[in-house]
Amino acid sequence: MRYISTRQTGGRTVSFEHALLQGLARDGGLYLPERWPVLDSDALAALSGRPYAEVAAAVMAEFTGRAFSRTQLAAIAAESYAGFDHPATAPLVQLGPDRWLLELFHGPTLAFKDFALQMVARLLDAVLARRGRTATILVATSGDTGAAAIEAFRGREALSVVVLHPAGRVSEMQRRQMTTAAEPNVHNVAIAGTFDDCQALVKALFADLALRDEIGLAAVNSINWARVAAQAAYYVYAALALGAPARAVSFTVPTGNFGNVYAGYAARQMGVPIERLVVATNRNDILAQFFETGLYRKGQVHKTLSPSMDIQVASNFERLLADLSGRDGAAVCALMAELAERGEFTLRGARFALAKVAFAAARADDDACLATIADVWRESGRMIDPHSAAGVHAARTHGAGAGPMVSLATAHAAKFPDAIERAIGIRPALPPRLAALAAKPERVTELPVDAAQLTRFIRDRVHARQRECVA
Ligand SMILES: *Cc1c(COP(=O)(O)O)cnc(C)c1O
Repeated sequence: MRYISTRQTGGRTVSFEHALLQGLARDGGLYLPERWPVLDSDALAALSGRPYAEVAAAVMAEFTGRAFSRTQLAAIAAESYAGFDHPATAPLVQLGPDRWLLELFHGPTLAFKDFALQMVARLLDAVLARRGRTATILVATSGDTGAAAIEAFRGREALSVVVLHPAGRVSEMQRRQMTTAAEPNVHNVAIAGTFDDCQALVKALFADLALRDEIGLAAVNSINWARVAAQAAYYVYAALALGAPARAVSFTVPTGNFGNVYAGYAARQMGVPIERLVVATNRNDILAQFFETGLYRKGQVHKTLSPSMDIQVASNFERLLADLSGRDGAAVCALMAELAERGEFTLRGARFALAKVAFAAARADDDACLATIADVWRESGRMIDPHSAAGVHAARTHGAGAGPMVSLATAHAAKFPDAIERAIGIRPALPPRLAALAAKPERVTELPVDAAQLTRFIRDRVHARQRECVA
């Protein structure tokens, strides 16, 4: 399996290992498999009823090429999901006739990001050990990625992890999950800006090729292909549980950076019978607007009860644009340039029609999310978090008569106690993993939206740590 960049015009390809280590391609594009691997009906049927880690290893194997043996992948997958606190890893819960919830919050940080990061940290560790190298992980987070990355990378010898979060724009629980890690290889930075500012800083630092080589910068944001690949596994797992390959399934996906739902699209491209992928947004509805009209227009970022979806420029969307454009890098560059210059572009004709084949969209503002949390509580006695509520809301508007509809539950309700209390008047009990955080001291550095200052900070920290390691 070889990889190309969404922006490239020549025929150059790179290995999975390269895509894993680099994250972002040097031309500023994102890596995509050169062609989609196929899981045919027999391959799918053979995975039916298998434990989650086995399904994950089989799906990963389609993407890793020669980088890992089957045995290595099986061991890495088993270890990655051993720390999840539900025997099914990703349990399906029935909400109503043909309506399901796929609970993706049973990992160590209680959000779905653990699925990809637990796996990616181990893949990276294995590759670095093989090469005798060290790396610096740089992550921008709207909340949950940072926590999941820190949890996956803390204490790993060969890796430093630097996490940027928008100051004051993540929940207290999300912040504590990040800033209470005491390991010296963990560095938290609160940026005086939005998540989009954090993401732009990451892009700026990656564009500094000298810095990139000097400290071995690696990205595990959802732009890293390995994360998308790891996430494709739970779509396969859920589809199998509900009757695939014989029966098609649809999903509603609480969406921010378009990584999660793009993993669903990857599973669909691999031959998993997925009827529709419903992109669920909150008030930050650039993607909902796109799938309705073809217009992709950057707006203001609004703060909502679902902060991990408070995003206007969805990085992974470029991957879909590449697919819709027939992998024509020049066409993708033209769209991205238009977006940079004019703040918008419109997709028309065949490319937009193609987008509508697999995708639909729905938006839910805070009131709709609160009402959905209350409805689900009343109907099933389950507490869902405000992100998951956007997905369940989407299922209510798109679910009728289309076969099983699975709403992805992306975070545990207890991570957002204020919203839950507002919706149903009850504060969710804190799971032990979260309760322990309140007593721990926090470590965080505040910085403005300034690439030069951030570069200085990272150089100092990483070099100090390298000196420590030598001494
Ligand atoms: C990250 C996150 C999302 C958004 O996922 P994307 O892959 O960025 O689209 C939704 N809900 C929760 C709880 C998240 O942590």
